[in-house]
Amino acid sequence: MSRYSNKNAVITGGGSGIGFGMAKLLAEGGARVMITGRSQSALDAAREQLGQNVVAVRSDVSVLSDLDALADRVKDEFGSLHGLFVNAGITRTMPFASTTETEYDELFATNVKGAFFTVQRLAPLLSTGAGVVLTTSVANVMGMTDAGVYSAGKAALRSMTRSLARELLAQGVRVNAVSPGPIDTGTLEKTMTAAAAAEFKAERVAANPMQRFGTPAEIATAAAFLAFDATYTTGAELVVDGGATQL
Ligand code: NAD
Repeated sequence: MSRYSNKNAVITGGGSGIGFGMAKLLAEGGARVMITGRSQSALDAAREQLGQNVVAVRSDVSVLSDLDALADRVKDEFGSLHGLFVNAGITRTMPFASTTETEYDELFATNVKGAFFTVQRLAPLLSTGAGVVLTTSVANVMGMTDAGVYSAGKAALRSMTRSLARELLAQGVRVNAVSPGPIDTGTLEKTMTAAAAAEFKAERVAANPMQRFGTPAEIATAAAFLAFDATYTTGAELVVDGGATQL
């Protein structure tokens, strides 16, 4: 029997980066996995790589009717859930002086409101003993240039991890957070010029005690531990950052 046989999991934002790494780990371990995202074509391409254990569903976490439709789909496909990975998020630097209200609202709608309602709408499907894992960030404990909105959103998720853990305690569901440090997912290259991304990466590597970026697989391993193995842990955050916020 494979490590995650008989497990059903949803991973929001599972079509790329860290979420894709989580989907790969779980699907290869025998779990049935539903990945979500906003682009059906990107999800289909991911599913093609991930194989038959994976279902790809277009669902925007900032749209509540999409989350209700997702809950219906989970019920039809899986019946119940053992793992919920609340990973979808926008990573965007926003210079303090020029951040607009629209940018602020868009980030909070996905990273904070989206996370809260993902858990609220899927909670009735979580079986006793299930684990929910929110993806926070080391930015939630650091003052970083151009990252005030992103960091505040992740700090809200850190707080929400504790509150949701309390809310779901009676249901026998644990809620924890995985807090990635710098993980090479190609996101930087999508949000800044190649030169700026290279400079940012070199700075991060130099500042990191392990002198490297982490990988999506390393976050996936930690998240799977929290969801399935950490049976006496709830409301906690596991930092996976090469020691950046600890040493
Ligand atoms: P990514 O851009 O590859 O992944 C984010 C995923 O979320 C994408 O698949 C995207 O389609 C999806 N998504 C975005 N908005 C959505 C929405 N409204 N509805 C549904 N899906 C949506 O980036 P990533 O680096 O893999 O980030 C994954 C998570 O990890 C994010 O929450 C991010 O904030 C967090 N994180 C990343 C790093 C890092 O260094 N990469 C560090 C700390 C935290």
